[in-house]
Amino acid sequence: MEETTYPVKIGLEVHGYLDTKEKLFCKCSTDSDDAQNSHICPICTGTPGSKPMAPNLSAVKKMIQLALVFDSKISYDKVIWQRKHYNWADNPKGYQTTISGAHAVVNASSGKFKGINLTEIHLEEDPAQWNPETGRINYNRSGLPLIEIVTEPEFHNSEDVVTWLKDLLLSLSYIKAVRKNAGIKVDVNVSTYGERVEMKNLNSLEKIKKAINYEILRQVENHKKGIVQTRDTLAFDEKQGITIKMRSKEGASDYRFIPDPDLPQLKITKKLVSEVKGTLPEMPETKLARLLDEHHVDEKNAKVLTRNLELVEFFEELINEGIDIKKGLSWVTIELLRVLNYNKKTLEDADVEILPTHLAELIKAANDSKITVLKAKQIMNDFVPKSFSLADHADEVSNISEEAIENLCHQVIDENAHVVSDYKGGKTASLNFLIGQVMRLSNRRADFKSATEVMKRLIG
Ligand SMILES: [Zn+2]
Repeated sequence: MEETTYPVKIGLEVHGYLDTKEKLFCKCSTDSDDAQNSHICPICTGTPGSKPMAPNLSAVKKMIQLALVFDSKISYDKVIWQRKHYNWADNPKGYQTTISGAHAVVNASSGKFKGINLTEIHLEEDPAQWNPETGRINYNRSGLPLIEIVTEPEFHNSEDVVTWLKDLLLSLSYIKAVRKNAGIKVDVNVSTYGERVEMKNLNSLEKIKKAINYEILRQVENHKKGIVQTRDTLAFDEKQGITIKMRSKEGASDYRFIPDPDLPQLKITKKLVSEVKGTLPEMPETKLARLLDEHHVDEKNAKVLTRNLELVEFFEELINEGIDIKKGLSWVTIELLRVLNYNKKTLEDADVEILPTHLAELIKAANDSKITVLKAKQIMNDFVPKSFSLADHADEVSNISEEAIENLCHQVIDENAHVVSDYKGGKTASLNFLIGQVMRLSNRRADFKSATEVMKRLIG
């Protein structure tokens, strides 16, 4: 969007699914994409009389990781689970259990990420999934551990929001705290001249950008007409590209937050926090700096690598396998990406399993002239979705003998008499064609240099 003089303030509430095996208050699996209602129990279906179990420690640790990475102040005392009441089909208990609300001490506050202040970070459980078309309810999602990250309203345009969210998603992927495939849901607050409005459940960067741009223009136009903006909750209709008023924003009191009598205070100890601190992974900025300073990777390639955790980890493992950095770079940033793009796959895809050890074998074999570089690239085409050891295919891929090369050269000369006479007549480029034929007939197993020498000798 062009620079404006409108008093735009934008704040975000980002919800992510924590990557845990079990739900927040029961032992049910978090594989929510499995058959509907296959991971449920009396607790996560809100059966009367059921009581929540102690909160999933793994979810608590991941929350602490996020709080540490985002330089937040972690709360140690009076962290009390709250019941947030509302009646809807997706909420069998009639309340959602959360560490937020008017009277809550949130898990972490006063954080900062990429120049934006974070108001709070807190844990909560996901409601069930209600399908408005079929009326069916899937409780697999009920009770999944969610993290909510709330920013101060410090953004002023949609571009900054999208850039910031991309950085946030990258950092979250480095921490591996949030389930990547589950995506994120973002509630976006926008205020210009009047009260702020809240746009709920935006689940893609594209939608977020469109919704913000539309809402700013709508509010500015209304302001010109003298219409005063009230505090509303909106939905973004992507098809029409407009926002639609759902309801006037309910105050926090409408949720009737009360402390949950079934759950004890969430005790977070300094010991637990320092334990988590010890396991924090390297973040994108640190990794980028290390690639530049330690490995002397050029800036362009370093950025390509660090934008994708799986790719940069693949590269690092390749280097650990003893592959020269410069060589490794081109095999990863050119060849590996070429093969993946061709197959419309990424390293993150569940069905893709390419091992750095297998690529390392391939590169070493090419370096030692055991196979040709062309052959290595051809083998790599078959690495998607699953790579394999070169050792298992040595007989089919290793370089053919000098004698075999010479036989092939004879065959090519016989089959291409006119090209040979072109060459003899001074058209040197014809040699490339003849060598190309040798490579093709050998299934890329003729050493290029030897083939060239033999061919030159034969047609002299
Ligand atoms: Zn359950």
